[in-house]
Amino acid sequence: MWPAFAFILGLVVGSFLNVVIHRLPKGESIVFPPSRCPACGHRLAPKDLVPVLSYLALRGRCRYCAHPISPRYPLVEALTGLLFTLAAFFYPPSPQAFLTFAFLALLVALSFIDLDTYELPDSLTYGLLFLGLLSAYLLSFPRPFSQALDGSLLAAGGLGLVAGYGAFFLRRFREGRAEVPVGPHQVHMAALFGALLGPGVGMALAFLTWALSGRTGRPVVLPDRITLPLLPLAWILAPYLGADLLSTLKGSLLSAGGLALAGGFYWALRPQEGGGEEEEPVAMGYGDVKLLGALGAWLGPYSLLALFLGVLAGAFVGLAFRQRKVPFGPYLALGGVVTFFFGEALWRAYLGWLGL
Ligand SMILES: [Zn+2]
Repeated sequence: MWPAFAFILGLVVGSFLNVVIHRLPKGESIVFPPSRCPACGHRLAPKDLVPVLSYLALRGRCRYCAHPISPRYPLVEALTGLLFTLAAFFYPPSPQAFLTFAFLALLVALSFIDLDTYELPDSLTYGLLFLGLLSAYLLSFPRPFSQALDGSLLAAGGLGLVAGYGAFFLRRFREGRAEVPVGPHQVHMAALFGALLGPGVGMALAFLTWALSGRTGRPVVLPDRITLPLLPLAWILAPYLGADLLSTLKGSLLSAGGLALAGGFYWALRPQEGGGEEEEPVAMGYGDVKLLGALGAWLGPYSLLALFLGVLAGAFVGLAFRQRKVPFGPYLALGGVVTFFFGEALWRAYLGWLGL
């Protein structure tokens, strides 16, 4: 009974996700107005909106104008239904099961919006992040709060630095424009300070430069051509300076992740001004950084496995279909879902294969 209920709930939620995927990027209301045919504008009746079945009954055409309906609508519904069913096999009826449904639904919406627009809306990435942290805090689900917080910061910090180095190489080592009051520069500084002074002090110093930039209206930052080359040097030299490599690395990533997620949140809340200002001019786009940070809140340290699986799947599809521009969000989401259900088993199998 429970898996069947989960499947039907998934179909219904999937039908709602279609509306979210369609309307959220345009800034339209998700609740109102009621659904209409995008071709003829005829208002859709409840009998037209039964997940999957309406599409099959109408043979993929609008009842009113016979315009073909995109097969993506039933696909999103069926996918959500199947994912919810999978979750139902892992969790009995419980708050944990419904939190898992929310995790999956948010990832489906994010994936298809990224496919359509190459963007990951902040409302959904930060929704995923905060829901994961809240669930960890209240229920220690899916993992304890300290692991959720560390996982989220490590993941966002790690991918934020990859994006930083990527942009630095693409610009051929020329200095990027520093954002006021906060941008990738602070993330790179936080990583360096975090390596030298630990995550707490590192983050505090970087936040201080954010505050100073905001106060003065000018970027108060160290240039990337200083922070980015010094950072690996700090990691390499750590063992010779009496620190251990792992805690130095962790200090960098935690600190950078704190700045990346807090900075991203600042820009998400800031009212948009006429599109004059470029938000985050980095090679990979901080959307992926925020998404991986959000996955970290659910996966803890296994978020690195999700990243690895995402890169693998993205590279495979990119090569197989010779696509030039591949949105990374759907692959990260796929890696996240696989890791959520099978991460520990995969990891144990891998260690077993290595003979450990
Ligand atoms: Zn129509």
